[in-house]
Amino acid sequence: MEKVAQNSEKIKLATVWLAGCSGCHMSFLDLDEWLFELVKYADIVHSPIADIKEYPENVDVCLVEGAIANEENLELIHKIRKQTKFLISFGDCAVTANVPAMRNMMGSNNADTVLRRSYLELGDITPQLPKASGIVPELLEKVMPVHEVVKVDMYIPGCPPSADRIKAAITPLLEGKMPLMEGREMIKFG
Ligand code: SF4
Repeated sequence: MEKVAQNSEKIKLATVWLAGCSGCHMSFLDLDEWLFELVKYADIVHSPIADIKEYPENVDVCLVEGAIANEENLELIHKIRKQTKFLISFGDCAVTANVPAMRNMMGSNNADTVLRRSYLELGDITPQLPKASGIVPELLEKVMPVHEVVKVDMYIPGCPPSADRIKAAITPLLEGKMPLMEGREMIKFG
């Protein structure tokens, strides 16, 4: 693996929440006091747990939670790839598309089908489709895992990955080394 940061520099670490339930980020927060260790070696430059709106340039490592399900996800993942050295598919939704991709089984027009079911047929009060150009992103016709859209450098499966697995995967990266992603503890799905 290419060393992601110079020796004396802190790594620029980002985490991103795309089409997922935020459970992977909850697991990240389960790192508890180890997060204080982490910030000795990494600056969190973008994350749902930090109030930084724009994805910055020159990110060293990014953990991407969630599948690519709408136009906003699609645009953002291309930006992330362009501005990140080492991109990690973080959790089963990113790795396989998982739960968000269940609508793919309904075939073509599935986006319209789920929207109509959720917002019209099951809408109790003023049922209406969510439409607001530039505000509510359009659903894509197919939900995709991250690697179907951009190159992925490493996968951390799990729904969610345990805090121990996240720690074991991230720690070597802080030294510019690749973690050993094998065995039940590191790559079991679910
Ligand atoms: S992998 Fe599981 S925990 Fe993570 S976002 Fe998807 S459903 Fe949630």
